[in-house]
Amino acid sequence: MFDVRHDPDLPEEVYGFVSRSLDANFNPAGIVRSADGRIVLTLGDSGLISTQAAVETISHELNHVRGFLSTGQMSSEAAAEAAAQTARPYIK
Ligand SMILES: [Zn+2]
Repeated sequence: MFDVRHDPDLPEEVYGFVSRSLDANFNPAGIVRSADGRIVLTLGDSGLISTQAAVETISHELNHVRGFLSTGQMSSEAAAEAAAQTARPYIK
């Protein structure tokens, strides 16, 4: 479904995102996919700083991906954040 890449140069406030390609004018042009077609997630150091951060960040981004795969549109930030919060009690 997705591949995860780590970018240690992301700003501290960026936990992760669904990777987007840019057009010639640097506007978002599409979702980046790996060679085998998986959607690429990019996580920064903040998104990997703890087990809780990793689970919540991946849950958030996975919600966006699932929305995209089912409707062609990524889910809202509110829906993705709700997914991250839903995962929180299961992090041991
Ligand atoms: Zn999001």
